[in-house]
Amino acid sequence: MKDKVGREIINKKVRDAFLQEYEWEWTRDTMKDRGFKVMEFLKKNDPADWACLNDVVCAFRNIDNALAFPEPYAVCVYCGGDGCDGDCKACRGQGWMPKEVYDRVPAEMKG
Ligand SMILES: [Zn+2]
Repeated sequence: MKDKVGREIINKKVRDAFLQEYEWEWTRDTMKDRGFKVMEFLKKNDPADWACLNDVVCAFRNIDNALAFPEPYAVCVYCGGDGCDGDCKACRGQGWMPKEVYDRVPAEMKG
């Protein structure tokens, strides 16, 4: 099994985190579905837009971004996935990094 940048995932704990990808997707899809239903409800029942549809849309986008951020993306380039017994600050001891954290890693560290 490989991470999203094509590196082999050796550590079992890291592999288990990546295997939960379906649950992350399901959670985000469920939240989007609820967001659409809330917007449809408001369009139908709040035609004067007292709730301010734009604010509601923005709130659901923020939730989606918050849920997207912590998804496993790459094996930690600093500890190689073992988390250094929880001491690796780059991955917070998890052995993997979300995309936004990985994207900020200097190119020379990515190999
Ligand atoms: Zn690490």
